[in-house]
Amino acid sequence: MNKLIIFSAPSGSGKTTIVKHLLSLENLNLAFSISATSRAPRGVEQHGKEYYFLSADEFKNRIQHDDFMEWEEVYASCYYGTLKSEVERLWANGKNVVFDLDVAGGLRLKKKYPDQTLAIFVEPPSLVALEERLRNRKTETEEKIQMRLNKAEQEMATAHQFDVIIKNDDLQQALQEAERIVTDFINR
Ligand code: ADP
Ligand code: 5GP
Repeated sequence: MNKLIIFSAPSGSGKTTIVKHLLSLENLNLAFSISATSRAPRGVEQHGKEYYFLSADEFKNRIQHDDFMEWEEVYASCYYGTLKSEVERLWANGKNVVFDLDVAGGLRLKKKYPDQTLAIFVEPPSLVALEERLRNRKTETEEKIQMRLNKAEQEMATAHQFDVIIKNDDLQQALQEAERIVTDFINR
């Protein structure tokens, strides 16, 4: 059975860092589901690598065509979604698919595929630490940092709805824990 491994957390918790580590472990046979988004690329991000970057109009068109497995307006006027075609392509290649989704999208996708999904919540040690990480990453304007922090508190309150919570305080420990949990799930 093709498996889905979903990572959700407030922005800045360390999802991308953990997911990148797991993708580097070839024995897990993982592939990343590249989402579509209407936000602009930041830094060195490339179309078809981190995201499929679409205009808001293109994104809405694809919603009309029922092209998404799930989508959310994660921030005001900023759409993010998982394309059915992306996941079908990876499943056809026999991969276990890893998703980086906001908490609403993560829980929605888990409901769609309850038996083959592991939904993981990545928890930062505190909101103060989260803010520090977002600032240190230096990828966001002050306005965007505030937008992400404003959402973080309500996102943290959904943690208990996930299958597992990984606390990302010490990074090496979090990476090891993620590795163990995902390996167990794939081999079960
Ligand atoms: P997300 O994908 O959840 O938005 P990132 O993986 O981009 O988060 O991590 C946010 C920032 O915090 C990055 O600069 C990353 O290097 C850093 N980071 C990740 N995990 C830790 C950790 N355990 N301790 C300190 N910094 C971390
Ligand atoms: P960022 O702009 O920092 O890359 O992502 C912002 C938020 O959007 C993160 O919480 C990320 O997990 C979420 N996200 C990315 N892709 C998708 C997607 O396809 N669907 C949903 N629901 N959320 C997504």
